[in-house]
Amino acid sequence: MLVIRRLSAWAAITASVGVLAPAVGANAAQSAAQGDEPIAGFTPERSAEQRRAEARFQRGVSAAEAGDLSRALSVRPQLIGSPGNRRAFDLSAAALRGYGLNVRGTPYDVYISKPKSIAVTMTAPVRQELEVKEPPYPWQQYYDEVVVGYNAYSPSGDVTGELVYANYGLPADYEALEEAGVDVAGKIVIVRYGESFRGVKAKVAEEHGAKGLIIYSDPEDDGFVRGTVFPEGPWKNEDGIQRGSIEYIFEYPGDPLTPGAPSTPETARLDPADAVNLPRIPTTPLSYGQAKPLLEALGGPEAPEEFQGGLPFRYDLGPGPSQVRLNLDIDYLQERVNNVIVEIPGAKRPDEKVVVGAHFDGWTYGTDDNTSGWTAVMQIGRGLGRLLDRGWRPDRTIVLAGWDGEEYGLLGSVEWVEEFKRELGRDAIAYINMDGVGGREFSAGAVPSLDQLIVDVSKTVGAPGASGTVFDSWTAEGPPEVDRLGSGSDYTAFLDHVGVPSFEIGFSTGGGEYHTSFDDTQMMERFLDPGYLGHAAAARMSGVAAMRLADADALQFRYSAYAIEVERYVKELQEEQGATELLEPLAIQAQAWGLAAAALERRASELLASGEAETRRGQRQLRRINRSLKRQERALTQPAGLAGRPWFKHMIYAPGRLTGYAAQFLPALEDALTAGDAATATRYRDLILDSLQRATRLASRAS
Ligand SMILES: [Zn+2]
Repeated sequence: MLVIRRLSAWAAITASVGVLAPAVGANAAQSAAQGDEPIAGFTPERSAEQRRAEARFQRGVSAAEAGDLSRALSVRPQLIGSPGNRRAFDLSAAALRGYGLNVRGTPYDVYISKPKSIAVTMTAPVRQELEVKEPPYPWQQYYDEVVVGYNAYSPSGDVTGELVYANYGLPADYEALEEAGVDVAGKIVIVRYGESFRGVKAKVAEEHGAKGLIIYSDPEDDGFVRGTVFPEGPWKNEDGIQRGSIEYIFEYPGDPLTPGAPSTPETARLDPADAVNLPRIPTTPLSYGQAKPLLEALGGPEAPEEFQGGLPFRYDLGPGPSQVRLNLDIDYLQERVNNVIVEIPGAKRPDEKVVVGAHFDGWTYGTDDNTSGWTAVMQIGRGLGRLLDRGWRPDRTIVLAGWDGEEYGLLGSVEWVEEFKRELGRDAIAYINMDGVGGREFSAGAVPSLDQLIVDVSKTVGAPGASGTVFDSWTAEGPPEVDRLGSGSDYTAFLDHVGVPSFEIGFSTGGGEYHTSFDDTQMMERFLDPGYLGHAAAARMSGVAAMRLADADALQFRYSAYAIEVERYVKELQEEQGATELLEPLAIQAQAWGLAAAALERRASELLASGEAETRRGQRQLRRINRSLKRQERALTQPAGLAGRPWFKHMIYAPGRLTGYAAQFLPALEDALTAGDAATATRYRDLILDSLQRATRLASRAS
């Protein structure tokens, strides 16, 4: 999966505090090495040492070798449970061992779907079998292993009925249908991809009584309306089908049968009928080439302006006269997923872990999603391996993780976090994710405490395919923007289930390859990331960030910035919902937290700058400060979790129930206030207040 970043609320970092002198171009690493401003979180002496290690690390990352690995992994599809997936595990483990690293697997047996036969037939006004798989290109090998276009976790079913067009399938789109007098109950609904997570589309269609759902890719969103189509250009051609899971990950992600527990042999499984994250109506994807006759034959009222897409005719709503039959024969079975785990033990605080991860499974050849992110993680392994050879050791443990089964519902990472949640809850420092780094345009998502670290690190790495640093390209048209994390990738369990501070970086180039058969090496090398420069830049950025967190004298988390954002969410909710009095204690507590956190950050800076950090007393103070910083994000979680979805423990962020990818702020409060449920709103006001008070106490006691 991939985050649709445009959807999410952007938060601008207005003050970009230049900690580093701007490093330039291809010599970024060398320039950074010569910089003399201390690195945030380090004493001046240790800064110099750190800079040398970072420069050496950056030189150990190789775009050419990322390309070699990417080509090797992209030969064969890596779908969960497939021979190509096992080959990807073995090949990756061998490459990492070649860098001198220890590799182990962490297997889990999870409940998944597998398509036996997917048939979509237009039955009226004319009969036509529709294609459910792209034709192969001459360069593609193992093409029979490319799975048909299908939506993971759709139930099996054989349904026939009149068709209704519902735009993106958002709740507002169904309201527009109702206004036009179109009833979708008992009909098959066709919606287009975009604007929300596809699982949300399935859930909303189910709630409106549809008996089946087709999700197609409209050319306006990522096809010929955007530009030249594959293989002449990167945009989606009429054959391209976006596969993807419709698991209700906004209820809980991971194995549907083991919420909150790892899918190990001793864990009891739910009855699938009781798994509330499993969708209930047959759902399947189509290309725009195949959706075209269905849409063109629709009658009924003319669709509103915002429903009109890029196909060359007027879109009408239906129902009928288009009729369609979905005959989906889908198996459900237990399948093995296996994560690739590398641990580089910390010399001083081995229990404390910085985890850098990316999923290695893919829907098809997966060259961008997510062989790109995974080869970037492996390049971090290459760079760190070279440092280890020269006797370097991180202070804290660095874990490199290749997650399996992400595409079906973040399976590998969720089960791993659920297995180790006590250890992670006690000692995890941060999680860094990469999901899609094959491109040129930089983007980031994070908790607010990590915004500044991303900014700092972006100044040390050369921009892919441009002069200057990533920071220079990122800020060419305005201040740097960092998104907030909703869901759709492997940071979800770390942040939402355990409260581990998380961030994700990516590099992208516009295209329509996402989850199609042509997310392949041709697409990557000709259009998305020629020379694999985005891959290398991502590895350098995430690697330097991991090293800074692992070696910091004082952890770089800025909870003063976090508190300001929480206060803003409270104010926005007060304005939207008119719940001024109810929420006022939260605004006041967020301010108190901000003040305490700022005092703590000042104290840490003084200790580092004054040389006190070298004294025994200073060391003691730093330990106390780090303990406080480590625990503040965790304080924002509550064991009870969110109302109706207890797997989500974080009180500030969750994936929106009606967006799926985009982050919802103060989710339990917003849901309760929107539903007019005063008792639940008060209960969550109190829980959030408790979280903010705990965070404030942690910040106050340490400074
Ligand atoms: Zn992905």
